[in-house]
Amino acid sequence: MRNLMQKFMIFMQGRYGTDKLNHSLFVLFLVLWLVNIFVFNRTASLIIYIVELIILGLIIFRSLSRNIVARSAENRKFLPIYNAVTGWFKLTYKKIKDRKYYRYIKCPVCKAQLRVKNKKGKHTVRCPRCGSEFDKTI
Ligand SMILES: [Zn+2]
Repeated sequence: MRNLMQKFMIFMQGRYGTDKLNHSLFVLFLVLWLVNIFVFNRTASLIIYIVELIILGLIIFRSLSRNIVARSAENRKFLPIYNAVTGWFKLTYKKIKDRKYYRYIKCPVCKAQLRVKNKKGKHTVRCPRCGSEFDKTI
């Protein structure tokens, strides 16, 4: 077993390995695989299957690629999308978790998400990011 691991490590030397883009592609692959279980149309199922194979091929190609600079550039281009999606999920989770004591409102100037106490009435809110003040009625 140890010998096999060493052989794998030698094989992977100088290769790119994995990153957030590969992880996300794998999650997409799993989602498509799950969706495909419930698709009963043969043509649609075949198309999803082909897309799954392409994604799997892309993951393997990226992991084994020796062109580390190009793969890093792809990952850097992908990271803002990844951060936007995960940020949305994190914020939604926080909104649900805090819904009893806090409200989330958007700053009208810089569009930042602000957390305010869930107290009824008119409040003056000051945005910590841009410093603008505005009234909010809850
Ligand atoms: Zn602001």
